[in-house]
Amino acid sequence: MRKVLIIGAGGVGGVVTHKCAEDSDTFSEIVLASRTMSRCEKIQKQVRELRGREIEIAQVDADDVAQTVALIKRVQPDLLINVALPFQDLPLMDACLEASVDYLDTANYEPPDEAKFEYKWQWAYQDRFESAGIMALLGSGFDPGVTNIFCAYAQKKLFDEIDYIDILDCNGGDHGHPFATNFNPEINIREITQRGRYWENGEWVEIDAMSQSRMFDFPAVGERKAYLLYHEELESLVKHINGLKRIRFWMTFGDEYITHLRVLQNVGMTSIEPIEYEGRKIIPIQFLKALLPDPSTLGENYTGKTSIGCLIEGRKNGETKKVFIYNVCDHEESWKEVRAQAVSYTTGVPTMVGAKMVLTGQWRGKGVFNVEQFDPEPFLEELGRRGLPWHVKEM
Ligand code: NDP
Repeated sequence: MRKVLIIGAGGVGGVVTHKCAEDSDTFSEIVLASRTMSRCEKIQKQVRELRGREIEIAQVDADDVAQTVALIKRVQPDLLINVALPFQDLPLMDACLEASVDYLDTANYEPPDEAKFEYKWQWAYQDRFESAGIMALLGSGFDPGVTNIFCAYAQKKLFDEIDYIDILDCNGGDHGHPFATNFNPEINIREITQRGRYWENGEWVEIDAMSQSRMFDFPAVGERKAYLLYHEELESLVKHINGLKRIRFWMTFGDEYITHLRVLQNVGMTSIEPIEYEGRKIIPIQFLKALLPDPSTLGENYTGKTSIGCLIEGRKNGETKKVFIYNVCDHEESWKEVRAQAVSYTTGVPTMVGAKMVLTGQWRGKGVFNVEQFDPEPFLEELGRRGLPWHVKEM
């Protein structure tokens, strides 16, 4: 009997709940808790209709450690899965420490008043998790998540030495809106509008936001322009992939998206600094979030595919070698299966697979871990079975 407590009933939370419900041998009991109860009820109903399973739901404010501790003590889960927002990472880790339960998430902590993506706050929990005898698994989504595991697999099976990694993320889908973000708008826009950063020859190189781009022929999508961004998995992969000379992250954006973003930025709508409006303080990016489509509602009319992978160069048996390890995911198929678009699907499936690795003891440790620190093979086997088949293309 293994019980899981999922926190966050958004786009990703829905997929994780469906996928855990699909595997009753591993996830024999599921509790979904979030800030807004109606969101939990909607997912509970879908899971009953589509998967024929009953789940328990609860209301919680995950910023309030005492509330989460009380919930954990009542529910007694074997693992807490955090698919709320990065702002909740630290309060949820604190609650897990206090109630002595394992923790898993998909995105690193961000302070609400500062757009920074760094593991330092969560890595600082290492000693406390280790001495409590529990584990935290960080970044078990797609990127971070599957991309880290593709790199770990390349290190273990495909290369003797790895020199260069380029992570390439393409959403070739169309949701029919002139401008919308595929996951939480506040997090997404903060990520894209920060300065670009990559790692080369032992140091970080910073560039202006969206100032470098390249064309890439994405499997199942075709040629697309991708922009260099800073992304959190770079920080942990630099530590865990041996002998790296350079690692970069690229994401595709259409011209329409970039034009909207530039205008919004120029008029100050993407700012996280509070402004005074009619006698009260508002944060422009939070106001913008209220205007944009809710990412969990984009799925129904979404067409096209995501195509995300790692382009890796190095040597095997003295020969130079270059591969692209990738997954393609179809928005319409995701909708049919779990009522979500492919960005939520590609995040939620690896979350469930990571949870399975922890619950079944295939990935075990005391302390705080990034996914690439464990054996990639059982994870990748399960990933294909659970709806995200992956491929290695020699380049
Ligand atoms: P959503 O905004 O759709 O969902 C977030 C959910 O968390 C909402 O239901 C929200 O509640 C809930 N929530 C927010 N604050 C609290 C709180 N204080 N207490 C309890 N619940 C709270 O986001 P997504 O589902 O798109 O994303 C979820 C996570 O996945 C994010 O951390 C995101 O960064 C990460 N992600 C990771 C990816 C990866 O590949 N690694 C890719 C995409 C996303 P309410 O309904 O009340 O607002």
